[in-house]
Amino acid sequence: MKTNRAYRFRLYPDKEQQLLFAKTFGCVRFVYNRLLEEKLAYYNENGKMLKNTPAHLKGKYEWLNEVDSLALANAQLHLQSAFRNFFRDKAVGFPKFKSKKHIRQSYTTNNQKGSIRIEGGRLKLPKSGFVRMKQHREIPDGHTIKSVTVSREASGRYYASILTEYEAEVPERALDLENSLGLDYSSPHFYTDSENNSADMPHFYRDAERKLAKEQRKLSGMVKGSSNYQKQKAKVALAHEKVRNSRLDWQHKESKRLADRYDLICVEDIDYRRMAQDLHLAKATYDNGFGRFRDLLAYKLAEKGKKLIVIDKWYPSSRECRFCGRVNEDLQLGQREWDCQCGAHLLRDHNAAINIRNRGLAMLA
Ligand SMILES: [Zn+2]
Repeated sequence: MKTNRAYRFRLYPDKEQQLLFAKTFGCVRFVYNRLLEEKLAYYNENGKMLKNTPAHLKGKYEWLNEVDSLALANAQLHLQSAFRNFFRDKAVGFPKFKSKKHIRQSYTTNNQKGSIRIEGGRLKLPKSGFVRMKQHREIPDGHTIKSVTVSREASGRYYASILTEYEAEVPERALDLENSLGLDYSSPHFYTDSENNSADMPHFYRDAERKLAKEQRKLSGMVKGSSNYQKQKAKVALAHEKVRNSRLDWQHKESKRLADRYDLICVEDIDYRRMAQDLHLAKATYDNGFGRFRDLLAYKLAEKGKKLIVIDKWYPSSRECRFCGRVNEDLQLGQREWDCQCGAHLLRDHNAAINIRNRGLAMLA
């Protein structure tokens, strides 16, 4: 089975490489925005999607040829898939223009016959050459690099997200249906499972969050634009980044723990539309990255010949009584427990997690 894996390492580009990165980020943004402009105009006139590529822009703006052409091609592909999402579901809204002020900048490029490779602790990239990299984890033999996303975070640090592909040997395994778990995404615990355990983020995470809040408060008391303000701003950005990194690290460990322990894990499909309607929830979800957690879980289970089952998003897992099947239409968003007409007393998240597990098992059968 062909499987993908992502690795993220810190990059240390020299001055010249930093300049080239900055230029590439700029060109990618430019191409994206120009193609979007064209698509918008065409859509307003014809109601259809224009298929355009960066080729004509390269003729007009010569400086576009100075950067990695695959980065530009990927900008077009990203835009195209954003547009397709829009056509599939107009509620997600039109793709947005990319702003220069966006704190995180990035571009994605692909490996073509070794144009990207790792050699002696450095990452070879098209146009940039060998960039110094801190590789804290080995990429196993048999992995081929498919693509790399180079990013510059708000703190000024550079990272490479390397996507690899490999042939995973999936062990034959008879799945034990009894050894299954349902997960209900719930803020602030991240998730509650069908055994009524909650995954609370560990202390280092909360400590980092407290520190972030403190630095943020300091920043808001400073004079905008002053040199102290700039210094503090970088400090806040770095604190943000540390929170993100430790969260990802924790998600790796947590998903591994679950994939080791269970044969089948059932989760809900993520309803982005409902989330968009509830901005608060959307933000919490985005921050916690449950979607990414599911991806990690999926491949860790798959490697062991186990299964992640995604149930449909319309299933009312929170509102259905797991004993009698009645659906409680009056259940409010913040309501943690409720009593069903059948006499059962239900804990919202626990009940939802059990329903998700049962639904998943039913889908399997
Ligand atoms: Zn009931």
